[in-house]
Amino acid sequence: MVLRAGREFLAIPGPTTMPDEVLAAMHRPAMDIYAGELIAITDSLLADLSRLFRTAGRSYIYIANGHGAWEAALTNVLSRGDKILVLESGRFAVGWGEAAARLGVEVEILPGSWSRAVRPEAVEARLKQDSGSRIKAVLAVQVDTASGVVNDIAAIGQAIRAAGHDALFMVDAVASLGCMPFAMDDWRIDVAMSASQKGLMTPPGIGLVAAGPRARDVHLKADLRTPYWDWTAREGEEHYMKYSGTPPVHLLYALRKALDMLFAEGAENTFRRHRLLAEAVRQAVSVWAERERLAFNITAPGERSDTVTTVLVHGTPSADDLKDFCRDTCGVVLGNGIGALSGHAFRIAHMGHINAPMVLGTLGVTEVGLNVLRIPHGTGGVQAATAYLGDSLRA
Ligand SMILES: *Cc1c(COP(=O)(O)O)cnc(C)c1O
Repeated sequence: MVLRAGREFLAIPGPTTMPDEVLAAMHRPAMDIYAGELIAITDSLLADLSRLFRTAGRSYIYIANGHGAWEAALTNVLSRGDKILVLESGRFAVGWGEAAARLGVEVEILPGSWSRAVRPEAVEARLKQDSGSRIKAVLAVQVDTASGVVNDIAAIGQAIRAAGHDALFMVDAVASLGCMPFAMDDWRIDVAMSASQKGLMTPPGIGLVAAGPRARDVHLKADLRTPYWDWTAREGEEHYMKYSGTPPVHLLYALRKALDMLFAEGAENTFRRHRLLAEAVRQAVSVWAERERLAFNITAPGERSDTVTTVLVHGTPSADDLKDFCRDTCGVVLGNGIGALSGHAFRIAHMGHINAPMVLGTLGVTEVGLNVLRIPHGTGGVQAATAYLGDSLRA
C-alpha cells in the first residue's frame, strides 16, 4: 500500500520547491541577447542582488552552482601561496577551503564541531596570534546545511575587527540568503556568495557573488584570476561580457520572478515565515526526542538554523529507513545525513517556497514513519507544531 500520488513533496535542502510563477516565467522562446528586455532584466537583477545581500558593493551572476560561486569568490581575491583561515562548523566551510587548497592556497582550519556554531572568541584569539598578517581571508558559512547550524556572522565580523586584523571576511550564504537576515555591509563582510536553488526558489544553475570595496582593491593584484570568473572582465557596459558569454536567459527570468515574489512579501515577512515554520519543526522534533532515539544535531537551541533542521536517529531502524519510508510510501523526500552524519541523520528543509501545509505535511508523514517503523519517540510532535503555530498566529 502506498499513499503517494500527485506531486512529490521535496523537503531536501536544495534544490528546493519552485513556485509555479517561477516555472512559468521561464516558458518563453529564445530571444535576442544583444538588445531589448533582457538587458534591463540584467541591470535590475544586479541591483536587486546587492539589495538582497544588503551591500552598496557590486554583484556578479555566474552560470554555476554554489561550488562555482565558491571558486569565483576565491579566485577574484586570492593569490597562490596566500593563507586563509576556514571556520569549521560542519561540512560546507571546509568544502570551500578544500577548493581553495586545490587552487594553491594554504588553508588552516579553525577546528569546530558538527554540533555547535563557530565561537567568535576563538576566531579573535587565533587572529591575534597572526601578528605578521599572514592570513589573507577568513571563510565562514552562515548556515551549514549539513549540521543545521546557524553561525552568528555579525559577531564573527566583530571578532575579526576586535583582533585588529585586516583579513577579508568571506561568507557563504547559500542556505540562508532570502530566508534569514543577512547584512553584508553592516556585518563588515567583504565577499558574499550564494546560489539560486535554495532560499531563492529558482532552478539550480545561477551562482551569485557580491564584493565590497576592500575585496575589489585586493582583486586588482589577485593572481588566481581566470577569464570566466574575473570581476573586472564582467564590469564593462557590454551585456554579453557581464556573463563572460551567453547569458542564462531563462534562469534570469526565473530569478527575476523569484526576487519579485520575495520583495512583494517583504523581507521581514519572509524572515518571520521562515522563523515560525522552523520553530514548528523544532517543536515537533523536541517532542520526538523525548524518548532519546532522536535528537537535534545542534545541541544549543539558539544555534539551530531557520532554514534546515538536522535530526539524529540512533540505532535501527535507521534515519535512512525512515527516509525511505517517507519517500516510497508517502511521497515526501527528506534530506539525508551527509558527511559524518551519513546514515545517522535526516534533514528537514524549511527554506524558500515553503508554507504551513508543506511543513505540517512533512512533519505528519515523518511521524507516520516513526510509528510504522516503531522507532521509539515522544508522542504528539505534530500536535506540538500545530499548537505552536496556532499560538503564534493568534498573538
Ligand atoms: C548547497 C550548498 C553549497 C553548494 O552548492 P551547490 O550548488 O550544490 O554547488 C555550498 N554551501 C552551502 C551552505 C550549501 O548549502
